[in-house]
Order: sequence, then structure tokens, then C-alpha cells
Amino acid sequence: MSNPKAIKIPYGRQNIDQSDIDAVISTLKSDFLTQGPKIKEFEEKFAKYVGAKYAVSLSNATSALHLSVLALGLKKGDRVITSPITFAATANCARFVGAEVWFADIDPKTYLIDLNEVKKLIESKPKGFFKGIIPVDFAGLPVDTEKLRKLANKHDLWIIEDACHAPGGYYIDSSGNKQMCGNGHFNDIGIFSFHPVKHIACGEGGMITTNSKFLYEKVSLLRSHGISKFNMTQNHGNWYYEMKELGFNYRLTDIQASLGISQLSKNKNGVIRRDEIAEKYKSRFDSKIKYQQLPLNSFNAHHLFVIQTDNRKELYDHLISKGIFVQIHYIPIHMLPYYRKIGYEDANLKYAENYYNKCISLPMFPALKDKEVDYIIKSVNNYVNKKT
Ligand SMILES: *Cc1c(COP(=O)(O)O)cnc(C)c1O
Repeated sequence: MSNPKAIKIPYGRQNIDQSDIDAVISTLKSDFLTQGPKIKEFEEKFAKYVGAKYAVSLSNATSALHLSVLALGLKKGDRVITSPITFAATANCARFVGAEVWFADIDPKTYLIDLNEVKKLIESKPKGFFKGIIPVDFAGLPVDTEKLRKLANKHDLWIIEDACHAPGGYYIDSSGNKQMCGNGHFNDIGIFSFHPVKHIACGEGGMITTNSKFLYEKVSLLRSHGISKFNMTQNHGNWYYEMKELGFNYRLTDIQASLGISQLSKNKNGVIRRDEIAEKYKSRFDSKIKYQQLPLNSFNAHHLFVIQTDNRKELYDHLISKGIFVQIHYIPIHMLPYYRKIGYEDANLKYAENYYNKCISLPMFPALKDKEVDYIIKSVNNYVNKKT
């Protein structure tokens, strides 16, 4: 059955216009498809946007997470804390280097890692037991990194803020300063993704942001085979370079960076539109529908708009049948077969599991039309009131 008029609304979608296409074409006609000037331009503009000193572009956010834990010195047998409600890569980066992942349960109101649970977990172990924390700005809601930093400092822990959902998100700290997600102020490293379902589409792509010169230089080296032409121990001639560490090829291309630059320039309006859609959802949903609670001092960048309902499976099937391609974010990491196999079978994370049993991500992207938003709201409300 093919009906060209059939409604088909995805949960997220990139928004590519003529200026994006022109930007890519101009790079294709230039001298550099990779390792050229667009990389630096994208990094500088991105660092400025989030308010960090340095930014390093990478092939994706997973490679950004991998290099981050390497640069911070995470090793086999070390332990890190993260949230069970995130994309698998957030936890996997610790496994890449043989470290253990410990989960702290989520706050059932914000769906973010519960900082009181993090504190309890840290204080239940001797000093030095954990090396770092990887909080996630889940769905686009900023983690309170100011509070987390105080705790981390007390226990000598680093913080990698996984801000893949949150370019453009921010909160106001206790001194009244605006803290953009991933800005490097209360975290050591911020992580961003440029997968098309995220705010800024490069096809594939990622970014590390930091205020630390040391971390900036270290991840820059590891991104490109560990090879450098600076600070060399010998000099055989002008061709000479040294491989100082075992690095990777985790580079972004200039083609992708030129798309990223063009996309970044639209993110400011993009998050405003996302917020408009979120407000519409919230003001018009039936009161039986629960959604993520926003602390007063925060601006949610809204990668996702998650609702919770008791009849999740039925509502999911219903919305799909209406052409609304909702998704589930996420299956808790400790429940994934790989993690069950390595010993997380009995993890006691009841808020994460309870959240998972009820959550559905509704369509959320700037190009979503008002008429589509109305249709989604009507479909959800009708179902909840059994008027279908
Ligand atoms: C998308 C995502 C990643 C991984 O991003 P890639 O660019 O696809 O590697 C990591 N963490 C979170 C929270 C994500 O949403």
C-alpha cells in the first residue's frame, strides 16, 4: 500500500538548506577535502559558541569520548560513574580502555543522573576508587555541573560532560553566570555529536571542548596517529616528524566541517524553535502525560521530548500506526546484553528501569511544522482518553 500523502513524521530529522549545500560544494571545489582550513574555522566557531577555550573536531562523538578518557589517563581496572539512561557510547568509552562502569540511578523528575546518588556511591568507597564521572545532559537538559564540580574536587575526580544532546543548552549558576553546556568551566571536557539526528548535522562528526591546554594538545595528537612536528627529540630534515604516542585517525573532513559551520550558524534559532515546540506540547497535553521537569534556572536544548505513560507499548504502537515515528530513549545500559554478560544482570537501578518502562520520545526538530505538532498532540490526547 503506497499512499504518497501518508503522514510520516520522524522523531528527529536534519534540516539542510541551500546555504548548507553551497558550503559543501565550495569545499569540494577547494584544495582541501581534509586537514584544511574549514576544520580550524569550525573548531574556533564552535568553541566560541559554547564559550570554551579550545575545541577539537573528531570523526564522531564516540571517538571524542574514546580520546577523552585516554587523555585523562583512564586505564584498565579504573572506575568511572555514569548514568544508565544514555546512549551506549557514553559508557562504552570506559570499556574501550578496560575500565569499569558504575551506574548511579537517575532522578525520576529530570531523568538526569541523580547527584545525590553519585555522592552516596563515591562516599561508600575509599578515596581514589573512582577516577571520573561522565554525566549526560539528557534530552538537552543541563546537568548541574557546578554542584558536581564541588563533589568531584573533594574526591579528585575528572568530569567529562556528555553534551551530545545539548549544544545551546545552559543554566544560570549560583553566582548568576550563564553556563553553556560543555563550556569547560565546571567540566574538564565537553562532548558533542554531529550525527544527523542531533542539533548540528555533519553526516558523522564530533567535538571535544575544553579549557585545558594540556587536554587540548593531547587529544589533538591522539586524533592524528600520535604524529607531530612539534617538540621533536631529533631532526633529520624538513620532512621529519615523530610519532610520540599510539594514536588513531579520528579526524573530521573539511567537507563535513563546512557543513558543520553552516549548521552551527542556525543552531541559535533551532533551539528557540525546539523550545517553542516543547512549550506547545507541555501546555496542551492531557494531565495524565508526564514529561521531563525543568529546573527554573535552566534552558533545555531539547534534543528529545520524552513523555511517560503507563501504557507505553500500546501508545507506541498507536502512534506508529498514525505515522508518528516515535522512539524509545533509552534501554538502560545495564540491561543491554553486552553489559548483562559482563556482570550487570543484578544492577539495582529502579528509577532508570521504571523510566524505561514508560518513556516515549515524540518528534522534536526545528523543521517540525505547527500542523504536525497539533496532529501529534491530538493523537496522544485522544489515545490517553481512549477516544480512538
Ligand atoms: C549520539 C550520542 C553519542 C554518540 O555520538 P556519535 O557521534 O554517533 O558517535 C554519545 N552520547 C550521547 C548521549 C549521544 O546521544
